[in-house]
Amino acid sequence: MKEHLWKAIVNGDPSYDGRFFYGVNTTGIFCRPSCNSRKPKREHVRIFSTIREAMAAGFRPCKRCRPDLPRWPGEEEGNPAGERGFAE
Ligand SMILES: [Zn+2]
Repeated sequence: MKEHLWKAIVNGDPSYDGRFFYGVNTTGIFCRPSCNSRKPKREHVRIFSTIREAMAAGFRPCKRCRPDLPRWPGEEEGNPAGERGFAE
């Protein structure tokens, strides 16, 4: 996992919302970076660039941050969890 993605999770950084989602292997739940649920252990975290990807991997959306409900048009398309778009 890239360091800045992990930092975004730990800090609950809302500026990363819609850029990526993270799933927790031990719970089978995936979240927005800004979710304020208990932070998972790094080794249990899996990064997804889209909701569809997370669902396809068998993860369920978190009931607190509701990553399955887009907050703006186009958000559900997500973005690759790479460098692209982070510098804008
Ligand atoms: Zn959550």
